[in-house]
Amino acid sequence: MPQIVIERPGRVELAMLPPLALYAHIPWCVRKCPYCDFNSHERGGALPEAEYVAKLIADLEALLPSVWGRRVVSIFIGGGTPSLFSPDAIDALLSGIRARIPVEPIAEITLEANPGTVEATRFRGFRDAGVNRISLGVQSFDDRMLAALGRIHSADEARRGVEAALASFDNVNLDLMYGLPQQTVAMAQSDLRAAFACGVPHISAYQLTIEPNTAFYSAPPELPEHDACADMQIAIEEMLAGAGYEHYETSAFARPGHRCRHNLNYWEFGDYLGIGAGAHGKVSFPDRVTRHERIKQPRDYLSASITVAREGTVAPAELPFEFMLNALRLVEGFPLTLFQERTGLPISAVQSQLAEAEHKGLIERLIERGGQRLRPTERGRLFLNDLLALFVGGESEGRGSGVRVSGPATRIS
Ligand code: SF4
Repeated sequence: MPQIVIERPGRVELAMLPPLALYAHIPWCVRKCPYCDFNSHERGGALPEAEYVAKLIADLEALLPSVWGRRVVSIFIGGGTPSLFSPDAIDALLSGIRARIPVEPIAEITLEANPGTVEATRFRGFRDAGVNRISLGVQSFDDRMLAALGRIHSADEARRGVEAALASFDNVNLDLMYGLPQQTVAMAQSDLRAAFACGVPHISAYQLTIEPNTAFYSAPPELPEHDACADMQIAIEEMLAGAGYEHYETSAFARPGHRCRHNLNYWEFGDYLGIGAGAHGKVSFPDRVTRHERIKQPRDYLSASITVAREGTVAPAELPFEFMLNALRLVEGFPLTLFQERTGLPISAVQSQLAEAEHKGLIERLIERGGQRLRPTERGRLFLNDLLALFVGGESEGRGSGVRVSGPATRIS
């Protein structure tokens, strides 16, 4: 039986509803990477593509009454390794979505892919299915680092994968990791130079962290010292700025016009439907903000007649933390009015926390046309967890939504 959590809605009043995105989770990978704590599972034989797509569509149908009349502004197919699904299966999924809910004609539609699972023909098939952005989990262009991470691809395959993606898509993100076992600052810089050489318009750079429930947690590799990782981060940020990539979120860097609209919607505390095993979603109503979550284990998810694992209203006391957890990741911060617009709470609800954060030099206020903007200072970005701790009013969750919103930035795929 699903566990239903109901909170009394209380004081929340939203004058308008936020943009609505859609996240679809495909949970299988060729092999489980030793550092990965995402809801990803080693595939055992052929994937149940048709059955799973039907389940994703059933999830969407179940969620439709909560979003009648709304349009989807972006779609993100994440995992796992969604590129293991055939272009025909992705086509069936996107057609099924479009048949059930209006999707903006210019919606950004991202598919996560891993080198070693895709070649040029497959990318063309995904493009023909309606995908218009690819996010590639490269992680490194150094064979030694890739082996240490347990990745299935080589540096050459990574280069060929990026080349093949760029032959079909203008909009390509490349995930890189740093702070890897035995990695030096020079090696991290060399990875970044290899990424620049590929010519991708978007790069996400994540520091490797050891998470519970991973193989690395049970048998941790030796990682570079904290100072060395900080030096890598500084070097990476400087190189990306020098190469014309705008740093717009803790780990995200884009050439002008290539920021990820889907992820920006999370960080701006927008709404999103979550479909697929373990997927999370958030839907706002005029008097409340709700969250939903699907059954996590793919086998259980596929066999269940009702796939919802949890759903309920977010307690108003938790909304400030949930909002800040996302919005304070944005390098340029957010207009002060966005807090009330997205949480339905007056800004006075966090006045004392904001004053303390300002006093500690963690955030700053900027006056701009039309009002004030709040943004984390450089110190605030460095000590993001301390800054967020000021707003803690309860637990939050963000996994299975395509970005992790707790702890340091570690979206790894
Ligand atoms: S890191 Fe990516 S490829 Fe590796 S197991 Fe996790 S989701 Fe799969």
